[in-house]
Amino acid sequence: MDTDERLDAIVVGAGFGGLHMLYRLRERGFSARVLEMGTGVGGTWYWNRYPGSRVDLESVEYSYSFLPELEQEWNWTELMPAQPEILAYLEWIADRLDLRRDIRFSTRVVAATWNEQTATWTVETDAGEKLDARFLITATGCLSAPLEPAIAGVADFAGDVLHTNRYPKAGYDFEGKRVAVIGTGSSGVQAIPVIAEEAATLHVFQRSAAYTRPANNRPLRAGEMEELKAEYPEIRARQRTSHSGTLRFGAFAVDELYRTDRLILQTAEEDRLRILDDEGWTAPGTFADVMVDIDANRAANELYAELIRRTVSDPRTAAALVPQYPMGCKRPIIDTGYYETFNRENVTLVDLRADPLVGITATGIETESGHVEVDTIVFATGFDAITGPLDRIEIRGRGGRLLRDGWVDGPHTYLGLAVAGFPNLFTITGPLSPSVLANMVMAVEQHGDWITDCLAHMREHEYLTIEATPEAEEEWTRHTLEVAETVPVRVHESCGSWYLGSNVPGKKRVYLVYTGGMPAYRARCDEVASGGYTGFVLG
Ligand code: NAP
Repeated sequence: MDTDERLDAIVVGAGFGGLHMLYRLRERGFSARVLEMGTGVGGTWYWNRYPGSRVDLESVEYSYSFLPELEQEWNWTELMPAQPEILAYLEWIADRLDLRRDIRFSTRVVAATWNEQTATWTVETDAGEKLDARFLITATGCLSAPLEPAIAGVADFAGDVLHTNRYPKAGYDFEGKRVAVIGTGSSGVQAIPVIAEEAATLHVFQRSAAYTRPANNRPLRAGEMEELKAEYPEIRARQRTSHSGTLRFGAFAVDELYRTDRLILQTAEEDRLRILDDEGWTAPGTFADVMVDIDANRAANELYAELIRRTVSDPRTAAALVPQYPMGCKRPIIDTGYYETFNRENVTLVDLRADPLVGITATGIETESGHVEVDTIVFATGFDAITGPLDRIEIRGRGGRLLRDGWVDGPHTYLGLAVAGFPNLFTITGPLSPSVLANMVMAVEQHGDWITDCLAHMREHEYLTIEATPEAEEEWTRHTLEVAETVPVRVHESCGSWYLGSNVPGKKRVYLVYTGGMPAYRARCDEVASGGYTGFVLG
């Protein structure tokens, strides 16, 4: 099929990143089309509709800041809203800013090819349609490529199968069902307490235990939204100077959570327990040595185990719930009643470390010690993170080079925004940018604004192409890896996380995110732009 359209930009994905990008491009007079594989906007919040799905930041921070009037019009109902409310917010944004007319839904991008002669990208959809644009902007998110669980017999199961990351729009009735959940990352930890309340029985198959603590979520009090609206300018200003673009995590002030003056290895055992009594679940992570010293981290893990023992009545279950990898290695989780769920009569924890998974049968799940019959399996098994969403598109740059081929030894990018050999390609929250270690909404706004300014600069100076130099790319890639090493527990040999790609068989173990914080990152991006786009070749 022939190319049917020529545009300034094609944006892939209509989540937080794609919607903001489209608005900014239009505002500056660029023609753009968003291609979205879902039937609606929302990205992460469109696909992850599982019970209990909820953001772990406060709504006033996890929301757009680019148009202050939006903040004043929208009313949040909870501190940390659930998925339906966030999706409703994004749908409202799409309507309020009249974005839908430039979004094509149910359209999956399968390939994108750079044409040397025309200096344009040709984007191919799953329907075989081709569209041309000068710029290709991926807003595909970091956690959007579902990981298929590599479990023997998975296709043999005759009951219902659900995936948290592709949850049915119509929902699912767990009433009276014997249910298994496989996976205890953020998604599993959120879904398990809710499913347990509905299901007849719930077996939780845990390979790695989670570090999770109570979210302390609550509805906003009457009048609280008005107070927050008045504070928005200050909140936004403070967010911009914060390392992660986040002031509060799980109803706690981030500044207070991560203290710098208290060392666990210099705190006597009885004092550690006293601190635990006073401060509860937040205590273990607040010692300054926990993230940098593996012995301190083990001591914090012991305190954490004590908290689990205090919450979970069965000692064997409590012991099985204690993580055996460093605290801070994986994404910290916050929950609503997770550990308490294991005190319910209808819930059983299956510790796959002690009783490995053999496979799935037509009627249930088999481990070395026996077989559990279930009606429904819920997979909460995660994503091929950060690089996965880009690797799954055949993106070909100069000389027909495939993007993913150059990333076999880990991604190489300039600022997580651009790749040498791939002119006029911008990757919103791409590999080696702050992305998931920052407030994602702030991260996509920063990238979207930078990209729009760059396009306007090119228009003004009549440049047709922009491309990162191999030297700038190598310098940034090396710098990112060096910064990651400064937080030893994140890269410790005992840590396997999706930040390192360790959850995907065969994926190179490399830290995929810039850990230097949003202020430093923003300053570097601004410096590049004000220097006339240093590290890029414009032509
Ligand atoms: P995840 O953190 O990667 O967790 C996947 C879980 O499935 C892990 O417990 C993993 O065990 C297990 N698993 C994977 N394959 C398995 C297998 N073959 N057999 C047994 N167990 C298996 O994925 P996620 O929970 O979807 O969360 C991903 C990220 O999304 C989070 O870290 C967070 O950034 C984001 N998220 C955020 C929220 C929120 O903000 N509220 C909610 C959900 C997700 P191993 O650890 O041993 O591999």
